[in-house]
Order: sequence, then structure tokens, then C-alpha cells
Amino acid sequence: MTSTTTELSLDEIFNLAKAALINNGANEENADAVATTVTNAERDGSVSHGLFRIPGYVKALQSNKVDGSAKPEIEEVTPTIFRCDAHNGFAPLAHKHGLQKLIQAAQAFGIAGLAIQRCHHFAALWPEVEAISDEGLVGLTSVSYTPAVAPSGGTTALYGTNPMAFSWPRPGKNPIVFDMATASMAKGEIQIAARDGHAVPLGTGLSASGELTTDAAEIDKGVLLPFGGHKGSVIALMIELLSGPLVGETFSYESKERDNGDGGPVQGGQFILAMSPKILSGKDTSKQTEDFLEKYKSIDGVRVPGARRHNNRKDTGPRQVNTALIETVSNLGS
Ligand code: NDP
Repeated sequence: MTSTTTELSLDEIFNLAKAALINNGANEENADAVATTVTNAERDGSVSHGLFRIPGYVKALQSNKVDGSAKPEIEEVTPTIFRCDAHNGFAPLAHKHGLQKLIQAAQAFGIAGLAIQRCHHFAALWPEVEAISDEGLVGLTSVSYTPAVAPSGGTTALYGTNPMAFSWPRPGKNPIVFDMATASMAKGEIQIAARDGHAVPLGTGLSASGELTTDAAEIDKGVLLPFGGHKGSVIALMIELLSGPLVGETFSYESKERDNGDGGPVQGGQFILAMSPKILSGKDTSKQTEDFLEKYKSIDGVRVPGARRHNNRKDTGPRQVNTALIETVSNLGS
């Protein structure tokens, strides 16, 4: 694929994504939820989770791995614990149905959890936690995937790229948000670097023969490494446990075993927690948060996580999208 780009408005991005999904069997509600997630990713500059993901979403529909008409069901297990059966659907619709109940319970009781099962997650995680913090709550979430990352010291993949996201509310302002893979680099970023012929830092991953390399295409065939050596490795382990057995779902290796290998998102679980600083602390924490951020931002070279995306979001104009990708997605929609 070339790296030539073409300008598309956010509406054009949405329509392109939605047409490809509808044309391949998604119903209106599912296509709408996924296209919104994809458009918001392009809007915020999370391009590895924007239109780039549509061919994968479509493959999963074409192979019938994902039910494009899935209707997520939410069970209230206790007043603060919800279990969502996504019924083999894409994650965005499960979030649309489950987050509202989670938020209401955390606002009433201080802390609430959502276990999502039988779900296909192929996106960034910040939309989930931002939705929680937009309602004055702290959000925490994680998902596992399929083995792509070797535990620290090894050369065999066992962990997924296993992202986690955290957000802290700032009433009337954008929340503090971090959303990161526990791999040294997200798989989508490796694939984009491989596509565009860009080198990646040494330590990002190993080639198929277990050698350190800066060649993204070689790493794509080999194995990624966790960020931060053994410390990142144990966080990736925690995410395997939280997003698998804790929510009644699979480890990354189990997700791979039951997958049909079509290249679309595998079935797995998602762990989501919402916490109320107001109820846990018994105070209004806004001033304390803002005072801390003043100190934080006064340090040269420091910026608030999430700020890059929030700045991108202010621009409502067109986005530059890879021209060959636009052609691919257009063909899927016609
Ligand atoms: P990055 O390394 O680009 O960024 C990680 C976080 O650090 C972001 O929140 C970013 O905020 C923040 N950040 C970056 N630079 C700074 C800085 N200088 N100071 C303070 N904060 C900073 O993310 P990854 O490449 O690890 O992950 C990319 C995406 O891939 C994530 O959205 C993740 O959810 C997704 N993913 C999804 C998977 C799935 O299975 N669904 C699997 C793996 C990854 P900012 O956004 O403002 O730059």
C-alpha cells in the first residue's frame, strides 16, 4: 500500500465505514456503533484504530465469525456488578448497552464492574473510559487478544498486546486519560510501520528467528516484547487474568485456539470498572486534581496524557487518510 493520502471529512469517513459494514451483513445498529468508533478514532488521530480496521471488521462478518445483527444482553448480577453477553457481536454496541448501567451503579454505590463476554474488540479503549469520566467517575478497562508478545525473558508469544486504559474526571474539562498497549508497540502501529516501510526502535520485538530487529515487517512475522521489561510483562499478565478468567472469558491463547483465523477481531472478554471519587473520598476532588495538574504541567517537557487526542478533536475539518485504504474500504462498501 502507498502512503499517499486523500482528504476526507469526518462525515465521509463515517459513511465509508458504515457502507462497508452494511454491505457485508451488519445491521443498522451495529454498523452505526462501529462506524462511530472508527470515525472518532480518525478524528482523534488514533489512525491505527480508524478506517484501517474496517477490512478486519468486514472479514469477521464475511466469515460469520461475528454476528452483525447481535443484540447485547445485560444481566444485573448484583446491584453493582453487570455481565454483558455480547452475543458474538462487535464491542461498540456492547458498550452502548452496558456502560449506562455501569455508570448509574457507580454513581449510586461508589464502585461498579462490568464483565463483557462473547465480544469482538478491535478498537482503542479510550472511548469506554472517557464515557465513564464524562459522568464524573474514574474508569479502568482492559482486554486481551491473541498471543503476539513474549513474556519478559522469553521468545515465545503468550500475551496479547493487552491494552489497558484509565481515566480521571475533570468536571467541565477533558478527563486525564491514558490508553496503552502493554506491548512495546500496538500491533496496528507495527502493521502501519511495515506498510509504510518505517523502522521501529530496537527492543520493540524479535524476528521469527528470535533476533532483535528494527524492521517492522520482520517483527510482524515474529514476536513483540512487553514495554518496560519485566514490569510491563507483569502488567500484561494481570491483563490476561482480568480480561479472561475474572470476567468469565478466555486467555489470549485460548481466544486464538477458538478463532477461525480470518484476520478479524477474535472473541474475548473485557473488564470495565467505574469508581466515584466523590463517594470513595467523601469530598469534591476537583480542586485537588486541578492543583496537581498545575504542578504537573509546570514541569518542562511534560504533557497530560490524552491531550494529543483532545487537541486533535478540536479540529472538525477533514482528515488525511491513506488513499489506497480509502479505495479498499470503498470497494468493500459497493
Ligand atoms: P501510545 O504509546 O501512543 O500512548 C499511550 C498513552 O500515553 C496514551 O494515552 C498517550 O496519550 C500517552 N502519552 C503518549 N505520550 C505521552 C507523553 N509524552 N506524556 C504523557 N502521556 C503521553 O499508545 P499505544 O501505541 O500503546 O496504544 C495505541 C492504541 O492501541 C490504544 O488506544 C490501545 O487501546 C489500542 N490497542 C487495542 C487493542 C485491542 O485489542 N483492542 C490491542 C492493543 C492496543 P495521547 O493519546 O494523548 O497521545
